Amino acid sequence: MGAATSYSLGGKRVWVAGHRGMAGSAIVRRLQSEACEVLVATRSEVDLRRQGEVEAWMERTRPHAVFIAAGTVGGIFANSTRPAEFLYDNLAIEANVIHTAHKIGVEKLLFLGSSCIYPRLAPQPMTEEQLLTGPLEPTNEWYAIAKIAGIKLCQAYRRQYGADFISAMPTNLVGPGDNFDLQQGHVAAALIMKVHRAGIEGLPTVEIWGSGAPRREFLYVDDLADALVFMMKHYSDEPFINIGTGTDTSIRELAELVAKVAGYRGSFTYDRTKPDGSPRKVMNVDKLRSLGWVARTSLEESFANAYRWYVERPGAGLA
Ligand code: GDP
Repeated sequence: MGAATSYSLGGKRVWVAGHRGMAGSAIVRRLQSEACEVLVATRSEVDLRRQGEVEAWMERTRPHAVFIAAGTVGGIFANSTRPAEFLYDNLAIEANVIHTAHKIGVEKLLFLGSSCIYPRLAPQPMTEEQLLTGPLEPTNEWYAIAKIAGIKLCQAYRRQYGADFISAMPTNLVGPGDNFDLQQGHVAAALIMKVHRAGIEGLPTVEIWGSGAPRREFLYVDDLADALVFMMKHYSDEPFINIGTGTDTSIRELAELVAKVAGYRGSFTYDRTKPDGSPRKVMNVDKLRSLGWVARTSLEESFANAYRWYVERPGAGLA
């Protein structure tokens, strides 16, 4: 594909919006090995949902490059019970940051979407061309609609004003900094927490939501950060790019993998009153591969690292 470019981060002020989140904190870690100045803003300094606060902060700090890793995010339960927050917060954040980036002349901006933008029954693995070809998965359509609007904003500002704004669509993530909250979080963190607790408490079984049959793909979050920095430097075009591994696993197999890395010998039961969500979600990552990037961390290593991080994190003993 055309669009290979070279944007240098050297000597630049680079704002990571959402630096406290799982993806944002990994981007900050990855940027330590670039010769740039990393800018971050806490929520008490700038509420990204408020246009005036975003404008004032960006006009004062004048970032050259921006990663939009900020957003209201969560797992299948959070998405289906807090639709207004998932839609409004994410629309407001992306509209405020993208428009202000254009106004102040940001050189390069990368918007992070999500694999849930694709139709529920999109042919698998999902290519970028599947966008807007069918109905969305109802459990996360609010978040998906907001993320689709974010992609379109980047494309519109590129078309109308020539802004160098690009978008990346990461698959499900695993690794340090995940939301370890059983109600609000995603399956990777939930399985790690549940299996760890069951091991400590000597419980013979762990309950899993749904049938265990859905298939998901998982990318190690530090691999994601590496791919995003790679795109920032080497990609400049209107189409967004999938970021993933291109391989998937069933929730049941995943539970067994987590049991293995945690040394848990019990078994799993399935709560079929909880939703399965999409039957299968796996990305086609040919575009990213053709640009020259592939994921490095294996599924087992990813979950082993995430498990270790969870067990060793500060305050772990209090959980
Ligand atoms: P999704 O990828 O948007 O569906 O979001 P999740 O990561 O929350 O869920 C992925 C799949 O894992 C769904 O089929 C869930 O039903 C299943 N799952 C199994 N156990 C759990 C759990 O304890 N928490 C969550 N969040 N999902 C679970």
